[in-house]
Amino acid sequence: MSALAERTGAVNLGQGFPDEDGPAEVLEAAVAALNAGHNQYAPLPGVPALRAAIAAHQERFYGLDVRPDAGVQVTFGATEAIAATMLGLLEPGHEVLVFEPLYDSYAASIAMAGGVRRVVTLRPPDWSFDPDALDAAITPRTKLVLLNSPHNPTGKVFSRAELELVAAAVLEHDLVAVTDEVYEHLVYDGAEHVPLASLDGMAARTLTISSLGKTFSATGWKVGWATGPPELVAAVRAAKQFLSFAGGTPFQHAGAAALAMDDAFYAALTASFTAKRDRLCDGLRAAGLEPLPAAGTYFVNALVEGDGVEFCRRLPERAGVVAIPTAVFYDDPEAGRSLVRFAFCKRDTVLDEAVARLSRAG
Ligand code: PMP
Repeated sequence: MSALAERTGAVNLGQGFPDEDGPAEVLEAAVAALNAGHNQYAPLPGVPALRAAIAAHQERFYGLDVRPDAGVQVTFGATEAIAATMLGLLEPGHEVLVFEPLYDSYAASIAMAGGVRRVVTLRPPDWSFDPDALDAAITPRTKLVLLNSPHNPTGKVFSRAELELVAAAVLEHDLVAVTDEVYEHLVYDGAEHVPLASLDGMAARTLTISSLGKTFSATGWKVGWATGPPELVAAVRAAKQFLSFAGGTPFQHAGAAALAMDDAFYAALTASFTAKRDRLCDGLRAAGLEPLPAAGTYFVNALVEGDGVEFCRRLPERAGVVAIPTAVFYDDPEAGRSLVRFAFCKRDTVLDEAVARLSRAG
């Protein structure tokens, strides 16, 4: 869809990347690291200053006790952490429980490790799941539960009650939980991001994955991490060693500075994205679309008439805007047939232009 946007000159609200830089201090920390000669391989687990900053971040925001040495593995973005987790923990035939719609790298990473996915469907408008479907999806071959909250592509933030259901299933069936929390700081309207690892009994069996990309508007740096109990982190490390070994050294140093940003930075981030979400949703409504509630991430979904894939295919020519059909994130495309995902991590002028074009196109 990004290629289509380029070719047609459409406003791209498809792919989720910000069009503005993150904090200047963080960019300067990367430049300083380059100039200070941090240009060779990092240690396999990650630069010590970043590992210490990740552990401090988990304690500061969630009260989680993470060991900066054996409890943290730095990766090339959350994407590599997810792939290394699957390769490190799955044997062929193991099953992984995931919620659909699901982020595209999950299915590929599970398949690369020889695993099989079992899907529980989240249903609009509140993207809740049927607890019985969760139980039914667990079999004697289930090894992992992979959970993304705040959730792409829906914008859902799993509630504590929902997470408790997931935790109960993990504990009852002696599973390992893997969480993708890359949107952890993009949570709105007073909703709370609750890491699954912070629930009773879960720290010992949860790998928590996140990255710098979304929080610091630096998706191209690809600095991510997995934190958790040493035996699980060791499995990620073993796989990661032979995927990429270790690199991005100057960006790892900058990541240590980024995570230590003060509370005012994090509050301003939330305020800015809340305003962008509202700007887009108001504009979509004015253009006759029906945006669904989104308490997190930088995506909203809108209900369109008919087929979302068809709608998105025609939208660049018809209106000069690119969006993504949410159906592509489902195993069962029928479940997301009339949903379209718009990203609002764009400058206000870009959002305004997009909604003006949608309104004109009717
Ligand atoms: N998980 C989710 C749910 C995402 O939306 C994204 C980015 N679109 C990623 C992981 C990838 O994160 P990273 O860029 O740190 O690899």
